[in-house]
Amino acid sequence: MRTSHPTRRVADLLTRQPPRPLSIPQPTHTDAGRAGFVNVHVIVVDDGVVLVDTGLPGRAAKVEHALREARKKVGEVHTILLTHRHPDHVGGVPELRRRSGARVVAHVADAPTITGEEPMVAKGFMRVIATLTKAPGPVPVDDLLSVDGPISVPGFSAVHTPGHTAGHVSYLLDRAGGMLFVGDAAAGGRGGKVRRTPRMFTDDMASAATSVARLAELEFEVAVFGHGRAVTGRAVDRFRELAAR
Ligand SMILES: [Zn+2]
Ligand SMILES: [Zn+2]
Repeated sequence: MRTSHPTRRVADLLTRQPPRPLSIPQPTHTDAGRAGFVNVHVIVVDDGVVLVDTGLPGRAAKVEHALREARKKVGEVHTILLTHRHPDHVGGVPELRRRSGARVVAHVADAPTITGEEPMVAKGFMRVIATLTKAPGPVPVDDLLSVDGPISVPGFSAVHTPGHTAGHVSYLLDRAGGMLFVGDAAAGGRGGKVRRTPRMFTDDMASAATSVARLAELEFEVAVFGHGRAVTGRAVDRFRELAAR
């Protein structure tokens, strides 16, 4: 998978308050067992910066470095939106929350694992992954999501998309014709396609399929993923094609 030096793009994009989020890819091994990337999404909003997911443990410095290059301080990050409890998404939360004081938002069904109240129960191939990656430290969740709709950050709405995990949430931002932060409810494939998240990482395939169908009913132009490249231009049509298969 091609990667480019992210900080140059950060400096360029963030300072111009882009309609699109900046995605900082972090190397991981959780993409179908191959070396791949998990994306940390950075969104500049009127009163600061919002992150969607945080990458693996021990890599928060990369996010902070990217923010600094863009003349944004880590203290300007006021909200961290988590899509789900997997370590490649919540790993950076303890450090980034400590450094920024940001509020952490997650679904009530995935929160106990994030806070450490319940152990991370790794199923199937996730168990192998869990042995390869450092376990994320426990962190408080400040806002628990239990209903769909607008959240504490203006312009963002939560869409519960269970299946990959029980408490998986996608976030829809009312910007540029609609921007969907898919998380791992689906993944970006080759040639602007959208693909289902592999079975080996998914708790409940039937629920995951229902969630893809749910997302296909929304309206959005841009989709960005936990894994894979963003889809731009009527991205919802790619979800409708996937849901129909
Ligand atoms: Zn995941
Ligand atoms: Zn993931």
